Amino acid sequence: MAYSAPRGTVDILPESSGKWQELEQLIRTICANYNVKEMRTPIFEHTELFTRAVGDTTDVVTKEMYSFEDKKKRAITLRPEGTAGIARSYVEHKLFALPEKLQKFYYMGPMFRYERPGNGRQRQFHQFGVEMIGLESAYIDVECMVMAVTVVEALGIQDIQLHINSLGDDESRKAYREALIKHFEPVVDELCHDCQQRFEKNPLRILDCKVDHEHPAMKNAPRTIDYLSESAKAHFDKVCSLLDDLEIDYVVDTNLVRGLDYYSHTVFEIISDDPKMGQGATIGAGGRYNSMISELGGPEVPGVGFAFGMERLMLALGDSDNQGNGLDVYVMPLGQEAKDLAMQIVTMLRANGFTCDMDQCDRGLKGQFKSADRYHAHFSMIIGEEEVKKEVVNMKCNHSKEQSVVRLEDIVEFIDRHFEGGHEHE
Ligand SMILES: [Zn+2]
Ligand SMILES: [Zn+2]
Repeated sequence: MAYSAPRGTVDILPESSGKWQELEQLIRTICANYNVKEMRTPIFEHTELFTRAVGDTTDVVTKEMYSFEDKKKRAITLRPEGTAGIARSYVEHKLFALPEKLQKFYYMGPMFRYERPGNGRQRQFHQFGVEMIGLESAYIDVECMVMAVTVVEALGIQDIQLHINSLGDDESRKAYREALIKHFEPVVDELCHDCQQRFEKNPLRILDCKVDHEHPAMKNAPRTIDYLSESAKAHFDKVCSLLDDLEIDYVVDTNLVRGLDYYSHTVFEIISDDPKMGQGATIGAGGRYNSMISELGGPEVPGVGFAFGMERLMLALGDSDNQGNGLDVYVMPLGQEAKDLAMQIVTMLRANGFTCDMDQCDRGLKGQFKSADRYHAHFSMIIGEEEVKKEVVNMKCNHSKEQSVVRLEDIVEFIDRHFEGGHEHE
């Protein structure tokens, strides 16, 4: 019987896991710079959390969730995104009661959506996201945007554009919703089946429709920013002026409504024309959500956040050789006694903080040298019968090709001195 990974999933093999670690490390460093702390929530949650938090008219919830009943008939869903779990946890652990009113979290990990795989889409994929919960402040919206831009720039992604828009507060959204209904009412029969339902439930979603993208009614649809209440407009103006002050380029994109129901006020996307990323690719997006915490049973606490698809960010890292750092020492025993001694030596070296490995395949010198090469070993340590007898090893620096006979008790000191003498760990 032959097994393969389920459709829409991939294995991250050792040859590319180094690159993933590089990306993760970069993200962790930037999060530390921004005083954003990691939160790890479960990979599955009660289905109701997502229908409630993400919205039961979104494609994510209606079509793409991995949902199942567990043995006790509970409705469970593999998380399709990260914000709902963070918000749930925030409420459950009453983090709103902490002395710091503003709490900043990040998450990183696999998400699950039942979509047609291909074109960079997977059913299990990875997201990194940030949530800043506690304040309804334009400053925090902008902190999120700057942070998102920082991540993208740190990855060397070129030709980026920050698109922003405002959906306004409840009052603005109500006015806008009415305008949309008025606008689409005469043509609703010409729209796709999904849009006819959206028209009833959530006309805002019509603007995201891929089927009716070209319908003339889409082109002159009302724009959210024309329906902002006074306070919503003030919020958005402040966002823009803060971005101006920080000299962050942005474009006000009135078509930006985001595919999730929970946003209010600011929404944003980072789009790149970097050929590595695919032209016009949206590489990250986010926005403000002011009602999610209260929807989930918490107090009226606003939040703002963003998320990146990590597979896409990985494209930016290109094809480095992914060997990471090579070994300090590759130990090459010849014969049984040498192998016993080698086992002791690698254990001792590892305990002393060196990266090392040994041949376990009882090969000849040639094969072992090839491994030393493949592992980019700084030293090859050769142990033959003669060395065992004399209680020494033969150390070859693979950079200088210099060879030395070193007594067993001097090995650590020898390596230390060698590295201090200008030969860096590589
Ligand atoms: Zn449609
Ligand atoms: Zn060296």
